[in-house]
Amino acid sequence: MTPPENPRSARFVVDTMLGRLAKWLRILGYDTRYDPALDDDALLRIAQAEGRILLTRDHALARRGGPYAFLVDHEDLILQLRMIRERFGEPADAPFSRCPVCNTRLTIVSRESVALHVPTFIWQQYERFHRCPECGRIYWPGTHFERMRSVLRALEIHDIEIEDGQGLRA
Ligand SMILES: [Zn+2]
Repeated sequence: MTPPENPRSARFVVDTMLGRLAKWLRILGYDTRYDPALDDDALLRIAQAEGRILLTRDHALARRGGPYAFLVDHEDLILQLRMIRERFGEPADAPFSRCPVCNTRLTIVSRESVALHVPTFIWQQYERFHRCPECGRIYWPGTHFERMRSVLRALEIHDIEIEDGQGLRA
């Protein structure tokens, strides 16, 4: 049993109590499985079968997972993300390239194609839209932009250029 070798391509499966962390890992670009219906045995099975790191706050579960598990021993989201990034490296994908709700890679869609699916004032305000091919949700720069920027600042991520109106990037 060997853990995934390349820390740059670290992928995660996240324990049920860490839903908010899972969402933000996806926003940062980490391939992250999360399903509150999964029990401990299922989480461990997925970690081993798919070569994912199980992130948990449960000491006993972390011990059971051995090299496949990582104990998240902070309450604070920023500290959690910082710790994970320091341990496992940068995400494989760019920020905002995954659906925060279902983890699927987003695709860029034409402005015209979303005209009937987003509020008019949003459609008029933004040029670029992304769509999740799995769950159908549509994203635009304003969706998480301000909160995202504050999270990136807190993580001291300066290598990602984010200007106003460009919170979502291909
Ligand atoms: Zn989705």
